[in-house]
Amino acid sequence: MLFNELGLSADLLRAVSDQGYETPTPIQRDAIPHILEGHDILAGAQTGTGKTAGFTLPMLQILGDPLSGSRPVRALVLTPTRELAAQVNESVHTYGKYRPVRSMEIYGGVSARPQITKINRGVDVVIATPGRLLDHIRQGNIDLSAVEIFVLDEADRMLDMGFIRDIRQIIKQLPKERQNLLFSATFSKEIRELANNLLDNPAEIQVAARNTTADRVEQLVYPVDKARKRELLSEMIGRGNWQQVLVFTRTKHGANRLAKQLNQDGITTDAIHGGKGQGARTKALRDFKAGKTRVLVATDIAARGLDIQKLPHVVNFELPHVPEDYVHRIGRTARAGQDGTAVSLVCIDEQKLLKDIEQLLKRGIKKEFVPGYEVDKRIKAEPVQKGGAGRGKPRGGAGAPRSKGPRPAGRKRPGKNARGAQRKRSNGSSRSRAS
Ligand code: AMP
Repeated sequence: MLFNELGLSADLLRAVSDQGYETPTPIQRDAIPHILEGHDILAGAQTGTGKTAGFTLPMLQILGDPLSGSRPVRALVLTPTRELAAQVNESVHTYGKYRPVRSMEIYGGVSARPQITKINRGVDVVIATPGRLLDHIRQGNIDLSAVEIFVLDEADRMLDMGFIRDIRQIIKQLPKERQNLLFSATFSKEIRELANNLLDNPAEIQVAARNTTADRVEQLVYPVDKARKRELLSEMIGRGNWQQVLVFTRTKHGANRLAKQLNQDGITTDAIHGGKGQGARTKALRDFKAGKTRVLVATDIAARGLDIQKLPHVVNFELPHVPEDYVHRIGRTARAGQDGTAVSLVCIDEQKLLKDIEQLLKRGIKKEFVPGYEVDKRIKAEPVQKGGAGRGKPRGGAGAPRSKGPRPAGRKRPGKNARGAQRKRSNGSSRSRAS
């Protein structure tokens, strides 16, 4: 299938083609036509599947040419992290480059005043993390009563991060008649409940089997003693001449310490985690993307949703406590058709974590042994400390069966057909204007 078969207008197709995309990814192919028809969507898709364009493109088309004069917020995207909010906004700019659409990010950790100024000037699309948006709502800074499209991105992670009450409060501010799009990598009972309350007869889209890792990621486990992990990592980076490596640790402290040590080894490294200010996080990501730093050490929450194109190497310096996080971590590589490797340095303490991950994947991960780094059999396993990653309870498992609620994709929602058709018509006219 080609992009021009999805019903997108000429200016959006041009923006897509400027990006060098040739064919839509499965989530784009499945979601875009449904969204253009005005349906609610329940989509199972991880980062790396092209989901952002999957909702941004049709959202831009539905918004059409922005209203002149007063510009109410017409689309709201909620994301779990500031980084993801920034990336979604970047996508709105990228795909909306031939339209006069105004979008902004709203998140905490930075001054609220410039955000208020921007809101007051009028903005069509808001991409926000829940906490700061709720602050603006409570202070009467923002009016969401004209929102037509509401997107919950990475809903599972938002619930993990304890945002459910904030999300409910925000939803109360939205008009009843609106289009809702929910994206989640996993489907716990809580996500099902949220979806049942939020979505109106949604089209359900699942692009990859849940909790399965991208086929193109080559996964390897290197057994190594804890005290020698850093040395082995430095050697692997040097010997393999790896130029862009995302490394995961379980804790902020561990991320800082490793970054310091790698720098001492002469490998330019930065760390990104929730304990850093927004400015430092943005700079670390920018430098890494630009190739100024070779290694970025990240905790799970900070890395969630990071979009780094063609990232070739992911290293689990420490395995995560939550097996699903392994899937999210290695999803950073082999993105959108690229090849990649995911390497895990596993010490004796982490055997149970590895077993849990292999159970989730339903297969073993190939082990490789590096000469000179043989495991010292005299070392006894010690319990892995929990809690440093700043995470609450583990995610709700591999997902509840899809039994109730959503109808199969393909049938239109009766109440919104008219709206969808109307949109299609107006989209058609904006297409002719643009071409
Ligand atoms: P996402 O899952 O939205 O984070 O997107 C993952 C990556 O895939 C991003 O770097 C996008 O720029 C890229 N991408 C999105 N759509 C396509 C496409 N149709 N073809 C190639 N790359 C794409």
